[in-house]
Amino acid sequence: MRKLCITLFILLFASSAYAGKMKVVSTYPYIASIVDHIGGDRVRVNALARGDFDPHTVIPKPSFISKLRKADVLIINGAQLEIGWLPPLLKQSNNPAVNPGSSGFLDLSTHVKLIDVPKSISREQGDIHPDGNPHYYLNPHNIPLLAKAISEKLSECDSRNSSYYKSNCRNFITMWNQKTSQWDSKLAALKGKQVIEYHKNYDYLLRYYSISLAGTIEPLPGIPPTSKHIESLEKMISSRNISFILMDVYNPDEAGRHLSKKYGITFVKLPHDIGAVPEANDIVSLFDEIVRRLTK
Ligand SMILES: [Zn+2]
Repeated sequence: MRKLCITLFILLFASSAYAGKMKVVSTYPYIASIVDHIGGDRVRVNALARGDFDPHTVIPKPSFISKLRKADVLIINGAQLEIGWLPPLLKQSNNPAVNPGSSGFLDLSTHVKLIDVPKSISREQGDIHPDGNPHYYLNPHNIPLLAKAISEKLSECDSRNSSYYKSNCRNFITMWNQKTSQWDSKLAALKGKQVIEYHKNYDYLLRYYSISLAGTIEPLPGIPPTSKHIESLEKMISSRNISFILMDVYNPDEAGRHLSKKYGITFVKLPHDIGAVPEANDIVSLFDEIVRRLTK
């Protein structure tokens, strides 16, 4: 009897803890972390994809559909980063409230200026970024824009708590600006340096801090390196002073390690989202860790 009472109490408590909370689903963990800061205890947020896998090709799980079905709000990165995996899940979840164009849907990419928007679409050649580079959130200076868009969406969908969300957003941005000035002063040391990336994950950060991208190990976004492409990279490397090879945690790193060893270039593995490395466990420590790895 006592056990039953305890179980009932836990069940009641658990359901009341969730009662009245707006259910937000985000495609990636970094979005969920910003939502957490702004939504506080009025929102329950779940990220679909994990942060230690390739964000372009997420393997769907049945739980994704049930999360989407129950969601009040869906927040995506956009710029076609989810194009390879989200649309069929949205269709199967059959929740019109969170479909693109509905009031419960937010595409964060519409709130930032995208770079590398191609003049003509070359998807047939393997380019997986036909709307421009979707990895805009890896520049800390873009995060306040995302926080504001999230705060506005939460306020719109749950107007009773609007002043709560807006006040959390102001506090978040104040804290974020303090952190960003620390990151700015550390990254200033890299100004003018030349780097190679595997995939164009860090272009927004590189451009902001005037770090020059000399080449990518992929010949085109999403296309693995060929020996011909590596040969042309090697020619370029021998005529320039490359400081780093930047590598994500999910692509094969043999080519990068080979170039690093052969030419004595520092090889840096960087997290691209929360959970990509153990140190990156929220939106703040994600950038702390990126900056630490770049400047150590
Ligand atoms: Zn990409």
